[in-house]
Amino acid sequence: MSCKTKIAIAWIALLTSPLDVRAEIHNLVLFVPDGLRSQIVDSQQAPAMAELREKGVNFINSHSVSPTFTTANASAFATGHQLGDTGDFSNTIFTGFPVTAAGGSVTPFLESNPVLREVTAHFGGNYLNEESVVTAAAHSGRFSTAVIGKVGPTGIFDLGALAGAGTLIVDDSTGHDGGVPLSQDWLDAIAAAKLTAVAPGRGDNGNPGDYQHPGTWVPDYAQQQFFLEIVTKVVLPRFKAAGRPFVLVYWSRDPDGSQHNQGDSADSVRPGINGPTSFSAIRNADAALTAIEQALHALGLAQSTNLIVAADHGFSTIAKTSDTSVAARASYGDVIAGELPAGFLAIDLAAALKKGNTSIRLFDPDAKNQPKDWQRGEHPLLGNALIGSDAAAPQLIVAANGGSDLLYIPERLPERVARRLGAKVVEILLRQDYVSGLFVDRRRLGEVPGALSLDDLGLVGAARTPLPAIVVNFRSFSTGCENPVLCAAEIADTRLQQGQGMHGSFSRADTWNFMAARGPDFREHYLDQLPASNADIGRTMAHLLELDITPKGALRGRELSESLRTAEHEPMPEVKTRTLRSAPTAAHQMTILRTQSVLDTTYIDAAGFPGLTLGLEEVR
Ligand SMILES: [Zn+2]
Repeated sequence: MSCKTKIAIAWIALLTSPLDVRAEIHNLVLFVPDGLRSQIVDSQQAPAMAELREKGVNFINSHSVSPTFTTANASAFATGHQLGDTGDFSNTIFTGFPVTAAGGSVTPFLESNPVLREVTAHFGGNYLNEESVVTAAAHSGRFSTAVIGKVGPTGIFDLGALAGAGTLIVDDSTGHDGGVPLSQDWLDAIAAAKLTAVAPGRGDNGNPGDYQHPGTWVPDYAQQQFFLEIVTKVVLPRFKAAGRPFVLVYWSRDPDGSQHNQGDSADSVRPGINGPTSFSAIRNADAALTAIEQALHALGLAQSTNLIVAADHGFSTIAKTSDTSVAARASYGDVIAGELPAGFLAIDLAAALKKGNTSIRLFDPDAKNQPKDWQRGEHPLLGNALIGSDAAAPQLIVAANGGSDLLYIPERLPERVARRLGAKVVEILLRQDYVSGLFVDRRRLGEVPGALSLDDLGLVGAARTPLPAIVVNFRSFSTGCENPVLCAAEIADTRLQQGQGMHGSFSRADTWNFMAARGPDFREHYLDQLPASNADIGRTMAHLLELDITPKGALRGRELSESLRTAEHEPMPEVKTRTLRSAPTAAHQMTILRTQSVLDTTYIDAAGFPGLTLGLEEVR
């Protein structure tokens, strides 16, 4: 090296030293390994995640927002708000209007672009009410933005982009009916990389099996590979060439999809979601993270990119037994004898309400509102139901989701009627051995013994979508292992079978998601013991990107400032743990909620009846 070159290099170093340069905004990648449990990650199961957690920030006290479902948590990541503000209370919600894209159902499953478009349009162009971080980044004109991966949660990050302009969205439906159209520019870039702009199907990974046939043994390899090729060969190189900071969200369907559908454990809660297919799916997600890290390194972007890895929720194995359920005693053509069918909650409610009013029937919103008679072996297809004398004017609506369900009492019912019905429903549910925890809308139903309030869950805020009247949590328990959050089973309202996987409950197994971060703005080798949630991740993303987003509701997440280099020497805020108890019933039943809080942000560890929710064992 010549002397002149050395001097030139020294000058460049001086000019670009931190003292001379204004703090720059770094690139941001949010990688979501759907359904990855915090405690399953170690150097064997998921080496890339374990390394990231070890070298960067380990959010050991992490939290999914509850109900612990995908679209709900996508809304928290996307906006930095809790569910009371986003109104995305679960994967399946009551929208208050028949959704054409969901076959006319009033209880649509939100993981669909046509459904998201229709619901978005119905609720004033943004059903989440709050502006999302990715939307704000795109609109600022300062960032390149892309959201890639599982259909549903991807679109939630930028609902406006579902029309096909702005943020790049590539998901399961890309190139298919209902997919987000790609600009000619992106189509050309994809073609130039010798790739196709048509997402492959899930293949056998999409096979849930049935009551006679086990589900899949194949992780979501084909789709994962497609999304990774798009990210590593097209999106990241183009973002680099654009020469401005970027925001990339990558949502890996694994391990969630495989843990749901796996055929490792037919009708048995052991090994449940700890069989070989689930473990392969964890490796599939880990390898996806490796591929993205590798591309960032190869493109020289690793040093200037913050990488946050956060799962939407934890996971449990499905149990389908009950001694109290009327639904479990009927026989169906597609359910193992004696087990709970999809829709057991709706059937048990309809059966009990029918005793006081023989005109009560159960209608299936997923089958054109046809009546379903459990005594004739019929159950709601997906578990959702309209209960009343008339499908067009139901008294009670069940949005079935899995480890917890939502019950709605239509606003048109007078307060007096709603209160009486709410109290009756709670009384019916308190008798069921599969229920563990009830939460009611106290403004409409008043205080109900045995139940806590929706406010206690952060579900009452500025949301635009209808508020559930009652949230029903299902029982969970350990199937016997050293670390019980890794072998939880839960009652679930689902078409899937006992032994397959589910989430959505308020057990610590479902609320404890994997969470870690690394990059120029994050501390190194830092064990963060403060509680953190997916709403906090959204809020922290907005902070890192220096986006000024005006909130509508007050249920915002916390900036995880203790995890950042800028706050290395600041004092730690205090963590308060709290156990809330509802008023007891005459039979001394009560719902208990265990929380942690930091400043004015509250985190839900676990909720339910004493002894019937995993994570509440020591609470009496
Ligand atoms: Zn799932």
